[in-house]
Amino acid sequence: MNCANRPTSESLYAEACGLMPGGVNSPVRAFKAVAGTPVFFKNAKGSRLFDADGNEYVDYVSSWGAILLGHADDRVVRAIADAAANGTSFGAPHEGEVRLAREILGRVPAVEMVRFVNSGTEATLATIRLVRAATGRNKIVKFEGNYHGAVDSLLAKAGSGIATFGLPDSAGVPKSITHDTLLARYNDSAHVEAILEANSNEVAAVMVEPIAGNMGLVPPDPGFLLKLREICDHHGVLLVFDEVMTGFRVAKGGASERYGIKPDLVCMGKVIGGGLPVGAYGGRKELMNLVAPIGPMYQAGTLSGNPLAMAAGYAALSNLDDASYDLLEHTGARLEAGLNQVFGVAGVPAQVQRVGSMISVFLTSEPVHNYDEAGTTDKPLFAKLFHSMLDKGFYLPPSALEAWFLTTSHTNEDIDRTVEAFAQSLKDVAA
Ligand SMILES: *Cc1c(COP(=O)(O)O)cnc(C)c1O
Repeated sequence: MNCANRPTSESLYAEACGLMPGGVNSPVRAFKAVAGTPVFFKNAKGSRLFDADGNEYVDYVSSWGAILLGHADDRVVRAIADAAANGTSFGAPHEGEVRLAREILGRVPAVEMVRFVNSGTEATLATIRLVRAATGRNKIVKFEGNYHGAVDSLLAKAGSGIATFGLPDSAGVPKSITHDTLLARYNDSAHVEAILEANSNEVAAVMVEPIAGNMGLVPPDPGFLLKLREICDHHGVLLVFDEVMTGFRVAKGGASERYGIKPDLVCMGKVIGGGLPVGAYGGRKELMNLVAPIGPMYQAGTLSGNPLAMAAGYAALSNLDDASYDLLEHTGARLEAGLNQVFGVAGVPAQVQRVGSMISVFLTSEPVHNYDEAGTTDKPLFAKLFHSMLDKGFYLPPSALEAWFLTTSHTNEDIDRTVEAFAQSLKDVAA
């Protein structure tokens, strides 16, 4: 094959833009927040990505958190291949669903029963329907800067993708739908309390990212989640943890296990698919018993519980043991310490915020607790740093308001090289 004819990121993007809106199938991939041409990838292995232009990168996107064992992990690949050889979809029950469900229930005390769907968005969509079915109320409290998928009713102050593009909301979402969505400040339980009091007997659920990861990484303040549990109990409102990003990433049983809080329902996705499209929702048995076919809340999916996705998810989860989470904690701490040191030396004000293998850098002088504070990050400076790091072979999320994700295949050497490159990038962009 003639090298000159091989497609490059540039040529693929040019063609893609004529074929798909913005050339991409999910908006944050398009580099709008950092400018330039999105990189088109060919393959990935472990902590590395390889692009169409022959470059190699250490990956900090990790498919937006879905990849936790590293790319193309041999055990996951083998499980997918074996499953594929036995049929890619039955449209009927099979053992793979039972195995993955058993694994999830064994890990998350709050999940007594689970239903598989095909994406995180589907999981939150169904969960909203379920909390309304269970309570006979319509209103949902969500937090500014929390993202719960591209669900109409939840596309209000929904974090990175929306924040990045400066849309207050999405076009095509009727006001009558977001009308039932009440917005609270993250880490402000008094605000939630006030909202519940002002809407007594009208709120079905409070939905929260227990660790906010879609406005950069914003951990819950000590006691915040417990306070939410107490407020919800007091008002007879359901508490939903959207753990699509945090589930099985921040601890064996996700954030609910890490913080010891029992939500009524949990939304899952990303990691439970081992890199294939999966979502799930689960929780208290009496609530899950409202779901069809045993209950009156309808929800269905042709490819739900797909054998490939179930096999990939099981292969991923069953290979994530206590040692894996210790390793992720260690690697995360090493990156956090390295970046803090580099910012200190450079004299650039920055907040490195981390929980386990989720980390982010806010280019601002005060710690970030909520969406407004996240917005103080220096976006133009981030865009420069992003491109400088990209040139050096490090693929950071292409937006200042996204978390970075580590995997068990990121090595100390990867981290040290990243920190070194970051120090150089800070010098380069200052020059
Ligand atoms: C990614 C994400 C979703 C949406 O999941 P998709 O699989 O992209 O539909 C929902 N909630 C949270 C917290 C997420 O991070």
